[in-house]
Amino acid sequence: MTSPFRVGLGYDLHRLEEGRPLVLGGVTIPYAFGLAGHSDADVLAHAVTDAILGAVNLGNIGVLFPDTDPANKDLDSMIFLREAMKRLGEAGYALVNVDTVIVAQRPKLNPYTARMAARLAAEMGLPEDAVSVKPKTNEHMGPEGRGEAISAQAVVLVQRAADG
Ligand code: MG
Repeated sequence: MTSPFRVGLGYDLHRLEEGRPLVLGGVTIPYAFGLAGHSDADVLAHAVTDAILGAVNLGNIGVLFPDTDPANKDLDSMIFLREAMKRLGEAGYALVNVDTVIVAQRPKLNPYTARMAARLAAEMGLPEDAVSVKPKTNEHMGPEGRGEAISAQAVVLVQRAADG
């Protein structure tokens, strides 16, 4: 890895299921449905984690934390994110900024995006203005638009660390 800058892209989607907690960006949002998954199914944290790993070509969240491993059951996804940050540092890179999109028809997420960005920034050791979270509906189309799922996309920029 010779470039001083690299970018990473992450995407994830989880099904909505009645009675599960809805956790997005480490923030629990009051809603009758939550995301189904082996971990806490925080689709936004998963997309960001994959973007970080992708930036330094270190695989993906499913390889690092297989959903066949009982140890990962209902796990706080911030643990995945912190592990990706550790590996990013070991690869000699530091995170510059993170931009994300959450696609959800419901619930309305605008009241929560600042808290999600603050939580993600704190976990990644970034200033709050280096993390952006933008909610979109899907015009009632597709699995997100029909309220069957929530998906998230993330891009990150990383910079070679001065001492890396
Ligand atoms: Mg996932």
